Amino acid sequence: MQPSDHIHMETLAVHAGETGEREAGAVMPPIHLSTTFERGADGGYPSGFVYARSDNPNRQALERALTALEGGESAAAFASGMAAIMAVFQSLESGAHLILPDDVYFGTSALARDVFARWGLAVSTADMTDPDTVARLVRPETALIWVETPSNPMLKITDIEAIARIAHEAGALCACDNTWPSPVLQQPLALGADLVIHSTTKYLGGHSDLVGGAVIARADGEQFARIRTIQTIGGAVPSPFDCWLLMRSIRTLPHRMRAHSRNARQVAAYLADHPAVARVHYPGLADHPGHAIAARQMRDFGGMLSIQMQGGAEAALRLANRVRLFTQATSLGGVESLIEHRASVEGPGTTTPDDLLRLSIGLEHADDLIADLEQAIG
Ligand SMILES: *Cc1c(COP(=O)(O)O)cnc(C)c1O
Repeated sequence: MQPSDHIHMETLAVHAGETGEREAGAVMPPIHLSTTFERGADGGYPSGFVYARSDNPNRQALERALTALEGGESAAAFASGMAAIMAVFQSLESGAHLILPDDVYFGTSALARDVFARWGLAVSTADMTDPDTVARLVRPETALIWVETPSNPMLKITDIEAIARIAHEAGALCACDNTWPSPVLQQPLALGADLVIHSTTKYLGGHSDLVGGAVIARADGEQFARIRTIQTIGGAVPSPFDCWLLMRSIRTLPHRMRAHSRNARQVAAYLADHPAVARVHYPGLADHPGHAIAARQMRDFGGMLSIQMQGGAEAALRLANRVRLFTQATSLGGVESLIEHRASVEGPGTTTPDDLLRLSIGLEHADDLIADLEQAIG
């Protein structure tokens, strides 16, 4: 099933990736564990599959579904979000220059600095909320500008259209890490991005029980062909079971994103009024600096927020240690609510304020989440 003006996201999520084949009449697809596929008498491969590193029916269905949800032309699924990001960096020429957000996911900046600097990739970082700064950093070798919005953990909002325009004027690509909003809340390809990257570990997986990643391309051209080669030759591919689990999760994604957003909006409103809380970073709040852009480029504001406590680091750690319904753990996007003191996870050198807590709002009832925060702050 392909995206069209007539098909809604909910319908796409349930049916995208279907092959139309129902072996044994099974309504839901099987998991194909076979690593190898039979050749025909003429030496060809009548099924289209050869060997499971190159392709597999479960991965192909997942890639079709991701392509449809993001409105792209092709997708490549990976064993993790970081493997997907690595494939994008590896698809650039040695000596290329890339511009990363100054608050990009820490794994992305570590990869650029600790691995790809030795391969000759030059990296600049910019405050992506200020397109003029980004434009000034462009060089003749600039090949890629990276966007991540909302950002981690300050929930800064980047204008995807503005950054994509700067990239294209420079003859560069614009890639957008769309992990936090998911394709349900934000579709960067329609806003001009060339590549979308996901850690499917988060909202697409949605149940904190699988690690995965994906790259979705607006055009199935030379750049995507390189990424496909890196995927199939390098082999950082997801297992058939993980692909199947992701398909299971995607069927409920639009409903989950709506409920995450509704809950987060209520929790954010409660925290914004609380005297013990100094600041709430949530793009759904009218006083958030990125609210107007978020309202324009997102369908809703998502399930992630962060807060800074009046009482500083001590008050933040105390709250994280006293919650009962929230679990103190890293990651995000699952059905369960999580809370995390980011500065202590990121370690020395972090620029995250030490009075900050990041909350991944799950699918519990908002009143119960608020009651839990209330007893923990009190
Ligand atoms: C988690 C995350 C990643 C990394 O993905 P993994 O699946 O953990 O490898 C990349 N970008 C963002 C925004 C993330 O939240």
